[in-house]
Amino acid sequence: AKSKGKNTFHTFTEELFLTVHAREKTKRALQFALEHAEFELYYQPQLKGERLVGVEALLRWNSASLGSVRPDEFIALAEDTGLIFPIGQWVLEQACRQAAIWKEAGRPLRIAVNISPRQFAHPEFLSQVMNCLRINNLPGDLLEIELTERLVIQDLQAAAAKIKQLLHIGVKVSLDDFGAGHSSISYLMTLPVSALKIDRNFVRNAERSKSGQQMIQAITAIAQAMDVHVVAEGVETEAQLTLVSSLGCEVVQGFLLSRPITVEQLERWRLENH
Ligand code: C2E
Ligand code: CA
Ligand code: CA
Ligand code: CA
Repeated sequence: AKSKGKNTFHTFTEELFLTVHAREKTKRALQFALEHAEFELYYQPQLKGERLVGVEALLRWNSASLGSVRPDEFIALAEDTGLIFPIGQWVLEQACRQAAIWKEAGRPLRIAVNISPRQFAHPEFLSQVMNCLRINNLPGDLLEIELTERLVIQDLQAAAAKIKQLLHIGVKVSLDDFGAGHSSISYLMTLPVSALKIDRNFVRNAERSKSGQQMIQAITAIAQAMDVHVVAEGVETEAQLTLVSSLGCEVVQGFLLSRPITVEQLERWRLENH
């Protein structure tokens, strides 16, 4: 089922993922990936006006046995099997190392890292973060942690306490896919996060409907009340950029500005754009 060009993901999902056999196969492939350095981090620029304010690290897996597999296809399995712990650890280490390289080169840039619920809930998570910062001699404010509502809702008190500790060491925390879940807004508002990231679907809907626009306005109003930034994700067109900006989103991320790219491509991008 591999190496069929454009249909690879489709075939992969349908034929393989739904069976136990496939899960076993993917699990073994994930283990292999960790041991054979098949993972890579790509970085997607986040802009405030013309200014590059950070990048989001996005995991890419080029598997010897399965071909290229997108995170949406394997993160869930990694969480189920517990492999998310070593994978998440690798992502965190890699991101901190890269942030340190940029800082030492005199071009500091904050890296946002996606943290899965299980990884965040792990009792060692905080010391993991602190170790990564210390080993790389990296100030906390060059690291951002992206959490999803799903995670936070499970245990709000515990999440809030952990977020406070992260903020205490300077690490930024943002709420990803904001508005996409079903969590109570008043709950979320008690969290001491630094930013809300508006789910890509809202950006798309805003272009099509008045109620879509009102949704974004509502989120920016919440952000203002919480005194945090808003990041609009998945901006693909100039029209969307104009719209989300007019609705109060300061920071923007999306294919219009740049796709997720390699470190080398990002270096070039920075030279050309800044
Ligand atoms: P996410 O955190 O919401 O990341 C944004 C996703 O939207 C990325 O997909 C990105 O490539 C995509 N994207 C960005 N701009 C645009 C745009 O303008 N249009 C469209 N159509 N898409 C855009 P990606 O890289 O496939 O990642 C999917 C999800 O996998 C992420 O969603 C995140 O939840 C998860 N993920 C990715 N990397 C990691 C990781 O290192 N650890 C964990 N735990 N999860 C990860
Ligand atoms: Ca994210
Ligand atoms: Ca998101
Ligand atoms: Ca998402």
